Amino acid sequence: MSQARHELDWLNDEVVVSEVDVVNENVIAGKLPNVIKKVLGWGYGNSTWPLGFGIACCAIEMMAASSSKYDIARFGSEAMRMSPRQADVMIVAGTVNEKMAVVVRRLYDQMSEPKFVIAMGACASNGGPYWDTYNVVDGVHKVVPVDVYVPGCPPRPEALLQGLMEIQEMLKTGKRGLITKG
Ligand code: SF4
Repeated sequence: MSQARHELDWLNDEVVVSEVDVVNENVIAGKLPNVIKKVLGWGYGNSTWPLGFGIACCAIEMMAASSSKYDIARFGSEAMRMSPRQADVMIVAGTVNEKMAVVVRRLYDQMSEPKFVIAMGACASNGGPYWDTYNVVDGVHKVVPVDVYVPGCPPRPEALLQGLMEIQEMLKTGKRGLITKG
């Protein structure tokens, strides 16, 4: 086994042991619903499938996150779905104009539960450079509920991955809340 592989072993051990400990504690206490919740959260958190949905330039950074350099597959999210019915994370990557807002809402409504929204970049967060133009929605939160804002114009792929990890954390802990990451 290589040196690098060996160095990472302790990290895996720590995560696995803490998950198993929590499950064991609940089994001993006879709290089956807690165990099921924990296992489901673990499963959901490690298999968040984004909707393949790029509107403008931020989408290039979203695509870069799938490249070998940033490797979104490490987080179980490489399966970009072309259908909202098979997706649970909507990454709004780009400028949302009035006409597109209707489509964004329809796609959100068609997504499966539990579903999450990342507003990626300044345009999706508040209209960005176009916030006061006649046809741009100044923040996609006016169309769909946003869970994580990732600021920047455009944000780097690392920032998007951080946003994705926040959603994984919400799924694993069952605690949902608005988070902004830079
Ligand atoms: S935030 Fe910047 S990079 Fe992203 S869609 Fe708007 S103008 Fe383009």
